[in-house]
Amino acid sequence: MSNTGSKREGSTLNIGALREGVVLDHIRAGYAMTIYKYLKLDKLECTVAIIKNAQSNKMGRKDIIKIEAPVETLDLDVLGFVDHNITVNVIKNNEIVEKRALKLPKQVVNIIRCKNPRCITSVESALDQVFVLADEEKEIYRCRYCEEMYHPKIRK
Ligand SMILES: [Zn+2]
Repeated sequence: MSNTGSKREGSTLNIGALREGVVLDHIRAGYAMTIYKYLKLDKLECTVAIIKNAQSNKMGRKDIIKIEAPVETLDLDVLGFVDHNITVNVIKNNEIVEKRALKLPKQVVNIIRCKNPRCITSVESALDQVFVLADEEKEIYRCRYCEEMYHPKIRK
């Protein structure tokens, strides 16, 4: 141990510490940027740190995203839709104060597009893209208009 490291109080880019924010843990290795896009983190002004290929006892390798913003800023429905195995840690004063469980949302709006060329949403571009959870066990969603099946490929 030495005293050479000048640890400055109030640093805004301290990757290790997080005064208030969210740590998304157990992201499958290689998927951090996908999660980043789904959560529209590029639209937020806050500090975001992405850690790729971290060691994980459970998963071998995993990705982690640290977001310096209140958990309410994030769309956890979307996160649950993309990968409900991700652990959401809510941080206050550098401590985990809460772990949020993710679950498959009953429906998702404008997250995925229907691939059926005959679907009304392919013709009427003003329509919302609505997918409804059809089978929770098999994690299957169906287009509300044409029943086209969607199985998120991010999950196993
Ligand atoms: Zn459709």
